Amino acid sequence: MNRVKALLKEKFGYDSFRTGQAEIIEKILNHENVLGIMPTGGGKSVCYQLPALVLDGLTLVISPLISLMKDQVDSLNEMGIPAAFINSSLSNPEIQQRIRLAVDGKIKLLYVAPERLESASFRQLLQYVPIELLAVDEAHCISQWGHDFRPSYLKLADTIEELQQKPTIIALTATATVHVADDILRLLQIPTNNQINTGFARENLTFQVVKDAKENYLLEYLKLNKGQAGIIYASTRKEVERLHHLLKDQGIAVAAYHGGMSEQDRSKNQEDFLFDRVRVMVATNAFGMGINKSNVRFVIHAQIPGNLESYYQEAGRAGRDGLPSEAILFYAPKDLQVQKYFVDQSEGNEDYKKNEYNKLREMDQYAHTQMCLQRYILRYFGEDSHDCGRCSNCMDSREVIDVTTEAQKVLSCVKRMGERFGKGLVAKVLTGSKDQKITQWQFDRLSTYGLMRDWSQKEVTQLIDYLTAEGYFTLTEGQFPLLTISPAGINVLLGKEKVTRKQNAVKTLQVDDELFEELRSLRTQLAQEQNLPPYIIFSDKTLQEFAEKQPQTTLEMLQIKGVGQNKLDKYGEAFLAILQK
Ligand code: ADP
Repeated sequence: MNRVKALLKEKFGYDSFRTGQAEIIEKILNHENVLGIMPTGGGKSVCYQLPALVLDGLTLVISPLISLMKDQVDSLNEMGIPAAFINSSLSNPEIQQRIRLAVDGKIKLLYVAPERLESASFRQLLQYVPIELLAVDEAHCISQWGHDFRPSYLKLADTIEELQQKPTIIALTATATVHVADDILRLLQIPTNNQINTGFARENLTFQVVKDAKENYLLEYLKLNKGQAGIIYASTRKEVERLHHLLKDQGIAVAAYHGGMSEQDRSKNQEDFLFDRVRVMVATNAFGMGINKSNVRFVIHAQIPGNLESYYQEAGRAGRDGLPSEAILFYAPKDLQVQKYFVDQSEGNEDYKKNEYNKLREMDQYAHTQMCLQRYILRYFGEDSHDCGRCSNCMDSREVIDVTTEAQKVLSCVKRMGERFGKGLVAKVLTGSKDQKITQWQFDRLSTYGLMRDWSQKEVTQLIDYLTAEGYFTLTEGQFPLLTISPAGINVLLGKEKVTRKQNAVKTLQVDDELFEELRSLRTQLAQEQNLPPYIIFSDKTLQEFAEKQPQTTLEMLQIKGVGQNKLDKYGEAFLAILQK
């Protein structure tokens, strides 16, 4: 290990190992197979690059990211470490030449895409080149439970089986649920004890969920974070194009990236972003794999992605340099439909789709939980942690209110409806809707019909979402999840358990009268100065919401009905001064 440490300094220029690195490297040098689970930016590459230097034979690196391969090989060569890659971008003679280098022992590392293992000639070749270390990057791709399953990864197990001289194996990933990690261990024959998990937590990331965000919010955010680089993800090419135009029209230096663009446009735009020629990239999830840009300060998901693994991976592209960065999810129910459509249209079999719907549901619940967001994500990956103290839930200072009675109303309505319906219809029954379906099923005869008449359907739906996220309901699997009552929910019905929720006071607006008056007299004064009727500035309803929600920043203010960018620019500061006081 002393030799290794010296090389760390000499070749890579680092003084010490990061968490997990030394442990992983030690196992490799002992010829033990090992699985390393480290967060993005945790320093996975060094874990196999350094042993590759020490070992006599060749290190074969399996990586699905063609763009990253070239990058890595370039920087290795830069450090004086002989390495090469083979992928579909090369001509046949070029491939032959690189294979020769490997056979002659002239390179220490050879990077290949997993598809290469499907080629019989390549597999035959492996019989002649003793591979000492096999590094499997993005190892979660081997699991059918993973979010990025690649069938060619399954060939790995066969390939290893065929090799006469068995290499040591190191598998690496930044995203693995317990299920996926088990698959990796099993398929690559890694002993359970050799799973080294440095934790998924990214201490420098602040997670936020913003509900019903308007475009104004996005524009204001970009204005407040002027000069910072960031990525905005959207689910569809169309939405990427739309947002790209919107931002461009506002004079923001922005580029777009999605699978429908020409190869040339994509690489140009990617370069513009990497070289800081534009500061914002609007993209589908086609963008980012293997992007090493370290100074990305924010990642905004303008639409909800399909699962938490993708979300964490994409959000994790912020702050690779360790500086404070933000990961923001915009939540709107209609965006969920987009993801459902994707699953519905996907080619997988029924089991696959069911699994995808389940993942989407956990993603949806992320948007509704009041638990620490970082903790919610880590729990999903099977890791215990403490509250981060930074995320939008940890920072939510609204009052904790007892909503047991309301929860009981919802639960008992679901029970009376026979636990056979989704949240939409339940909300309709509770609010006393005249929807045809309701009369058809005779739900208007239920004692719970119209029991929450003073709530809007949206508010009831949000309460149901919250109760689901907190585990009082269990959803059935599949595309149209139905609400069933969990054991915890039964306890609530029986009055054995209380339900609390952070919210803006109880139903009816509770307005601070004194504050309202102060806001109103500011409005009168502004109205007089400009010779305008006061309601043109802000309506009473908007002032009431100011007094109730007491926004403290321009961003919070924008989330209130009646506040657009124009009015914010004109009057925001004056009203904020009062609200902050
Ligand atoms: P990952 O593949 O886990 O996302 P990388 O291997 O790309 O992460 O490493 C992330 C960054 O951390 C790189 O810039 C790398 O040079 C740096 N790094 C890796 N190991 C160390 C170390 N021991 N000390 C300092 N910096 C390191």
